[in-house]
Amino acid sequence: MAFVVGLTGGIASGKTTVANLFHHHFSIDMVDADVVARQVVEPDTPGLAAIVDHFGAEILLPDGRLNRARLRERIFSHPAEKQWLNQLLHPLIRQKMIDDLRCVQSAYALLVVPLLVENQLQSLCDRVLVVDVDEQTQIERTMRRDGVEETQVKAILQSQASRRERLAIANDVIKNNATDQDLLLQVTNLHQKYLAMSQQNR
Ligand code: ATP
Repeated sequence: MAFVVGLTGGIASGKTTVANLFHHHFSIDMVDADVVARQVVEPDTPGLAAIVDHFGAEILLPDGRLNRARLRERIFSHPAEKQWLNQLLHPLIRQKMIDDLRCVQSAYALLVVPLLVENQLQSLCDRVLVVDVDEQTQIERTMRRDGVEETQVKAILQSQASRRERLAIANDVIKNNATDQDLLLQVTNLHQKYLAMSQQNR
């Protein structure tokens, strides 16, 4: 498998922005946990079949895709159902991420995982890169991007790992505060470092 750099950060920290810089400037391939999480419940997957077995066919939209809003309703305030779903999905997501990482052709791979710390996925990574940003910037960028209220963003921040918890497992940090935005320079320096590391690892 390629050398794997896990890329994580809180809501609106800039993970997608950073991953796109690695991809567009240096052709580094990425595996995105959010994309994988949707793929494992697409029609004709064992994941979706298990969900239908458990919740019944009313969990599907008329076209056969998963009705996410209904699923959210069914697990909201039902910890046992939520746990059942996580126990089904987490191994499926983990396995597909591993399979996709095996297909990566670039010198190293970026594994973009918003909840890397929360779901303890560091074990899949050779290196953890955290996009770090202060909370006020996170709140402002989320409100602007998603058109949501401040209280809603604060609730999401509360539900995620703290900045300190994330930094505690970071091998590398990209700072994306309003004041230090030279993202491409930070990405370029890290790219050189990861290239050297991935070559040593061969
Ligand atoms: P999420 O996990 O919430 O989807 P993310 O960590 O992938 O978010 P992005 O989508 O990359 O974060 O960035 C969040 C928002 O902040 C976007 O609207 C993006 O354009 C903006 N943004 C990111 N970095 C900067 C920056 N350095 N300066 C200004 N705006 C930025």
